[in-house]
Amino acid sequence: DAKQQGRNTWHWYEGDQQRATKETVLLRHDLHTALRHDQFELYYQPIVEAVNGRIRGLEALIRWHHPERGMISPGVFIPLVEKTGQIISLGRWILRRACQDAAAMRADDGLVVPVAVNISSLQFRRAGFLADVRTALNDAGLPPELLELEVTESVLLDGAEPAIELINDLKAMGIRVALDDFGTGFSSLSYLRDLPIHKVKLDRAFIKDIATNRSNAAIVQGIITMAHHLDLVVVAEGIEERDQQQDLVRRNCDLLQGFYFAKPMPRDAIRQLPGQLPTPVGAGV
Ligand code: C2E
Ligand code: MG
Ligand code: MG
Ligand code: MG
Repeated sequence: DAKQQGRNTWHWYEGDQQRATKETVLLRHDLHTALRHDQFELYYQPIVEAVNGRIRGLEALIRWHHPERGMISPGVFIPLVEKTGQIISLGRWILRRACQDAAAMRADDGLVVPVAVNISSLQFRRAGFLADVRTALNDAGLPPELLELEVTESVLLDGAEPAIELINDLKAMGIRVALDDFGTGFSSLSYLRDLPIHKVKLDRAFIKDIATNRSNAAIVQGIITMAHHLDLVVVAEGIEERDQQQDLVRRNCDLLQGFYFAKPMPRDAIRQLPGQLPTPVGAGV
């Protein structure tokens, strides 16, 4: 009966919750060890010029090689380390490693393109962040022009003023800032006007069905046009097909990123790539 069903539903829910909590505790503990045992690795995904596929940047994307569970996605563990506060030490490690890798790719592979690092808003809004960035650059010997930071609109949680000030400081140092996942969450068009950013990244959600969904296509076109009027560079994320590339070229999008060109890969694989993507037929890798 209904009452019985209700109770079952409750029990099922309770068990599920307990499992989720236990899972969280386990992962939290594992993270602690992972930070000390080199289980993290940065992968890199090319960002290309829309019209010709030339590599114009790389986005650093963290991977966790868990000894028992295999690869764990950042979509799973980044929210967790944000909750525990471990994002601060992990974020510092990411910055340092990305700067070292960028310096090495420049010196060893002649790959002179900016490396974009995702910055959690907790990390960004914390005092000492600017000093961490400066230290990472100096220790790696990387010119600030080769570092880019990707932030989301959640950096505005304390209000626009502190974020504007920090982005201006970064800009003065020569570091560019991109607004990531634009169009999702509570994105407001006025952020594009108020934040001294260099670039806006259109979320994959709008790109996925751009060929068939007229409203998404209209939103994408509107954001590109407006961003250009504000002198911002526009990147579209999640390009998986040639049709999407062609559509976005027609819409004047500057840069593209997605599996169609290349998946995120280890640094050693990046150095094997040709300068133009997708790999021209016959070029061989
Ligand atoms: P994001 O910054 O928006 O990164 C783009 C995500 O889209 C990456 O997922 C990338 O692998 C994926 N992607 C790229 N092209 C395609 C495509 O064509 N199709 C599909 N389906 N996906 C594509 P990933 O690496 O799993 O990262 C997920 C999110 O985790 C990132 O979203 C970012 O918010 C966060 N993240 C990743 N690495 C870091 C990091 O080092 N630090 C911080 N704070 N966050 C990170
Ligand atoms: Mg990003
Ligand atoms: Mg994004
Ligand atoms: Mg995202």
